[in-house]
Amino acid sequence: MIVVLKQNTQKEQVEEVKNWIGEMGVQVHMIEGLHTTVFGLIGDTSKVDMEQIQSNPNVESVKRIQEPYKNANRKFHPNDTVVEIGGLKIGGGHFQVIAGPCSVECEEQITEVARRVKAAGAGMLRGGAFKPRTSPYAFQGLRAEGIELLLKAKRVTGMPIVTEIMSAEHLPLFEEVDVIQVGARNMQNFELLKMLGKTNKPILLKRGLANTIEELLMSAEYIMAGGNPNVILCERGIRTFETATRNTLDISAIPILKRLSHLPVVVDPSHAAGITWLVEPLSKAAIAAGADGLIIEVHNNPKKALSDGAQSLTPDDFDSVMKPICRLVDAEGKILG
Ligand code: PEP
Ligand code: MN
Repeated sequence: MIVVLKQNTQKEQVEEVKNWIGEMGVQVHMIEGLHTTVFGLIGDTSKVDMEQIQSNPNVESVKRIQEPYKNANRKFHPNDTVVEIGGLKIGGGHFQVIAGPCSVECEEQITEVARRVKAAGAGMLRGGAFKPRTSPYAFQGLRAEGIELLLKAKRVTGMPIVTEIMSAEHLPLFEEVDVIQVGARNMQNFELLKMLGKTNKPILLKRGLANTIEELLMSAEYIMAGGNPNVILCERGIRTFETATRNTLDISAIPILKRLSHLPVVVDPSHAAGITWLVEPLSKAAIAAGADGLIIEVHNNPKKALSDGAQSLTPDDFDSVMKPICRLVDAEGKILG
């Protein structure tokens, strides 16, 4: 971090600011110019509050050289993280497709969709049991029963399951869940992130509707700082002025996240698009941009779906989305060529 002092700051004040910053747990290296003094802060600056330094009346500007996240940072962990989920790998050249309905609705629905997405080549089954809905009158999910039904589908198909948590108090219900999803709306539920940091479960962390890439990485940092390194990042579209799609898929977030971080990056074309026919081209775009996986909504009867029917593929549609993907990866998910 670089701190530039205001021109002609008196020697006494320069010393005062230097000592004040030094008390923040970093070494302060001073460069004295003719009129301006510059401090180079050396050490772990992740705990240093930039705004607080900026608020000092003798400070002209502050610039971060090092990112505020450490555990999620590729600089400190150059090799790709490979997250293992029930024998499957994601990241570091391993690609996985997670598919299933937005919401778990009944046993027939989830087991039927599970069988079909598995046959098409998906590695993991998704399904929401706790649903974050804009309206309190909309279907809220089957909650604990939804998780039970997912576990049944897991026993039938052998597929690991991915489902969303909305409150830390529900954590005991997620004991047998393979991947815990943190949805867009909870990306900055810091108390929840801290609790998940204490588990060793793989966490699928979705980017918030209006959050920056750095904020997503800071949320990953919360989980990792707690001791859980198994974080998978998910770009699911952000809110923009565009109305042609439900959200705007930020394709550039994929290579940027992969450059800044070693964590696997999954793309959710379903929530980004909000429309079924866009799922296939957005999936292709995500793969071309370097994604490590996809999470796609599939329903056996989208017209009757209790949530997100408009963006849910039929199992037949999913078959055709998967065909070119299956040519790109082998049975273990290793990207070919
Ligand atoms: C979902 O996966 O069904 C979901 C609610 O996603 P998001 O949090 O990205 O909106
Ligand atoms: Mn959904």
